[in-house]
Amino acid sequence: MTTNDWGSIYKEMGAKPVINATGSVTLLGGSTPVPEVKAAMDAADSAFIPLMELEQVAGDRIAEMLDVPAAYITSGAGSALTLATAAFMAGTDDAKIEQLPDTTGMPNEILIQKRQRYWYDRCLELAGAKLVEFGDENGTTEEDLKNAINERTAAVHYVVYEQKPTDPNVLTLEQVLEITHAAGKPVSVDAAGQIYPLENFGKYVRMGADFQCIAAKYMGAPHSTGFALGTKEVIDAIGRHSFVGYEGRRVRGIGRPQKIDRQEIMGVVAAVDRWLTINHEDRLAYAESQSQAILKPLQGIPGVKAELNTNIMGHQPFGAIVSIDPAIIGFTIDDLVQKLQDGDPSIWTRVSLEAPQIEIHVFGMSEGQPELVGNAIADAVKG
Ligand SMILES: *Cc1c(COP(=O)(O)O)cnc(C)c1O
Repeated sequence: MTTNDWGSIYKEMGAKPVINATGSVTLLGGSTPVPEVKAAMDAADSAFIPLMELEQVAGDRIAEMLDVPAAYITSGAGSALTLATAAFMAGTDDAKIEQLPDTTGMPNEILIQKRQRYWYDRCLELAGAKLVEFGDENGTTEEDLKNAINERTAAVHYVVYEQKPTDPNVLTLEQVLEITHAAGKPVSVDAAGQIYPLENFGKYVRMGADFQCIAAKYMGAPHSTGFALGTKEVIDAIGRHSFVGYEGRRVRGIGRPQKIDRQEIMGVVAAVDRWLTINHEDRLAYAESQSQAILKPLQGIPGVKAELNTNIMGHQPFGAIVSIDPAIIGFTIDDLVQKLQDGDPSIWTRVSLEAPQIEIHVFGMSEGQPELVGNAIADAVKG
């Protein structure tokens, strides 16, 4: 019998579980499916079902819930990005679907503003597309975009991250939509974490984007799931390039390795349904109280600044922002991250890209862990 003590299933195998104070990050496992999702996944075990049909019906259900034309469940938002680029390049032409990642004879350039280059843009190249930057590190003008679009353009990609202050030096999505559509090209949006406030969930497609992705890891579905939202035309093409198109239509597209199972498909539907119906006030209040529990032991310690992160947009509300004065504490913020990681239990945090501080999120913390994390930081800085 395996006991259900914290992390025992990993410990018994000789692997070391950690406390996730970073938030929803793929390197630690991303998400823990919620009970409603697990129940749907268990129920899905009872029968087999043709996945081409299930993808269609599940996508229709999600599209209806989000008031967008069409949806398609994928192996993560990353796969949605890859399949969308395949759709933009090859469309529904079976010969071209089988030709990718060789893009000879197809538009194969995905345009992206230089200032919007980001971690996941690699997913846009996997199907054979080439990323082409427009604008420069100082910003982008409408002329830059107009000049960049040509017959090789497959789509223009846009990244939204509404939790962060708007970058005044990039084109707005409205500008990109207007210019790109006037040139007869599609717009793709990465909005993986834009699921709250609820009016943002699916908003970019409702604004006119041809495609946007969502990472279902952010809403209590399995970490390995996500979905595409978009026009009927783009979503239909995505399905043809996907693993179910490969097996169901016998047309061998690039999506074959990015497969998901029927349990995950039903888990995603349950996760979207739950997300649209849970009481978000309660969700936010709980996250805030967990965040306050981290902060409590850190007040009044000389050389330590610990403040509430007041952001409630996106998938991980609140959290704690901690910085230290190395002259007083005697070590740096990077040293603090290492000390926490080396502790027992090991606590994983990371230093922000923007500033020498750690941004703790309670997304991956269970009951009692916030207090433990706050106390561990207090102990570490007090030496
Ligand atoms: C997490 C994330 C992705 C990748 O999503 P997966 O579901 O892990 O493939 C893409 N874009 C953004 C902005 C993300 O946060």
